[in-house]
Amino acid sequence: MSQHVKGSPKTGGPGNASGAGAAAERGDHRPTSEALHESEAKYAALMERARDGVFIIQDGLCKFANQATADICGYSMEEMMDKPYTALVRDESRQEAAEEYSARVAGDTGVEPVELEVLRKDGTTRHVEISGAVIQHQGEPALMGIMRDITERKQAAEALRESERRYRLLSENASDIIWVIDLRTGQLKYVNPAVTLLRGYSVEEAMAQTLEQSLTPSSLEAARKAVENALVMQARDDERRFKPLTIELEMTCRDGSTIWTESRLTSHRSPDGETDEVVGVARDITERRKAEEERKRLNEELAQRNRELEQLLYFTSHDLRSPLVNIQGFSREMEYSIEELRSALGDGSLRAEVQEKVTPVLEADMPESLGYIRTSISKMDVLLSALLRLSRAGRSAPEMERTDMGLLLADIHKGAEFRLRDQDVKLDIGELPPCRGDAAQLSQVFSNLLDNALKYLDTGRPGSIRIIGWTENGRSVYCVEDNGIGISQEHQTEVFQMFHQVDRKAGGDGMGLAIVKKIVGRHGGRVWVESEPGVGSRFYVSLPGVNEG
Ligand code: ADP
Repeated sequence: MSQHVKGSPKTGGPGNASGAGAAAERGDHRPTSEALHESEAKYAALMERARDGVFIIQDGLCKFANQATADICGYSMEEMMDKPYTALVRDESRQEAAEEYSARVAGDTGVEPVELEVLRKDGTTRHVEISGAVIQHQGEPALMGIMRDITERKQAAEALRESERRYRLLSENASDIIWVIDLRTGQLKYVNPAVTLLRGYSVEEAMAQTLEQSLTPSSLEAARKAVENALVMQARDDERRFKPLTIELEMTCRDGSTIWTESRLTSHRSPDGETDEVVGVARDITERRKAEEERKRLNEELAQRNRELEQLLYFTSHDLRSPLVNIQGFSREMEYSIEELRSALGDGSLRAEVQEKVTPVLEADMPESLGYIRTSISKMDVLLSALLRLSRAGRSAPEMERTDMGLLLADIHKGAEFRLRDQDVKLDIGELPPCRGDAAQLSQVFSNLLDNALKYLDTGRPGSIRIIGWTENGRSVYCVEDNGIGISQEHQTEVFQMFHQVDRKAGGDGMGLAIVKKIVGRHGGRVWVESEPGVGSRFYVSLPGVNEG
């Protein structure tokens, strides 16, 4: 496809030598040189404005370069003139370019679009795409080319390739299953190799599966519902794509087992714009599910055991009382009987040796045994009462209501007025935040704590008790602080156990704090103590705040 072109020596621009002949053929009767000039002027104007570079190379030298060529190469148009084209190619490709050029010119072949890296004046390079043809320039063959700067396009394509490579690498090495489904047909369009790791199927096998084969029936149902709901919601917003949603799906495995996955689904328009695709990332949570199920089972078992224990506690403390009352009653009967015997025998009607044998039994053995029975009865009575108290405390589920703790403590304060005055104890109650709880049960909690604070004051110094409260992370926290005898470190956990008393001399039954712990626990709260022997104790109670559901 050679073309015969004559350059104008004045402009250095290409001229169409056949242009004059063609004009004559078309019946243009203007003088040939005028038509030629006109044509040349047109071409020159075109060249100057062209955004692509146009150039002519003859004998390896640049014989024409338009502004765009000069701009791409970083030279002025004057500098371009007679520049060996090899100076515009990077060192390493110079030889190759020279051979290519010679072959083209010698073979009189056009240049198919080739990509080259142009070396600019300032040493930087640009990527160009060059195409062209061999022409006659001033009677000699020359290469006329068009050069387009494709640096940005190349960089963008390279960046895209790099990002695709990175995402492929990520997807292929991910331990989560990543898949893409055509929302309209339900057909799987992509799945990553993690499918083999987690489900045992090869990628090809997984690709050939339908959704019905990949999910267990209940999960299939759940997935369909979730996607439909999401689509309906979005349809309301006039948006076909749905926002990301996370559902737990059970997937089938090659060996017949199943795995539980936490699947995050998002949808987007397919690259061809034809349909919406759902992209899913499924994480294996089988172990987590198993642990959760086990925890649930254990919790249920524990709750059941607790219920049984509560029943046992209630029935033993309640039902053991009647035999105890019997024992108490009959031991009193026996006392009367002994009294009767004593007076019956006191009249001296018995023979002396019988009297001798009976008297120590009547006067010592039997009263002593009865004494033991009575002590045991009252001990058992105390124990049973304490157990019954614990069993009753918080037996009914707390009625969780907004409770004004200021009012509640003011009532308790009033009830303790006499003891406070009697023991000359100062009680300060600060501003208390409200909480959610059962007022009657909470009243028992704070009465027990105040009771203890009073009971375990140090008689060696004036007693002082302070009750304060605050909110912390949405919870209402209260503190009952005293300057009493304190509790040593080793007893600080045990004091909340049933019947645990550090010093039995103080009286009480060792059940007060066990009751506190039980009630607070049933409120979903927590109680703990900080204490230093000889300094005092702080009992903290954390309860649901008013804004907790
Ligand atoms: P009780 O007071 O009837 O003995 P509690 O369960 O209320 O039973 O308390 C258990 C034990 O914890 C008490 O016997 C006492 O030794 C210790 N204790 C409780 N409150 C205080 C306190 N504020 N200061 C010092 N010791 C305390």
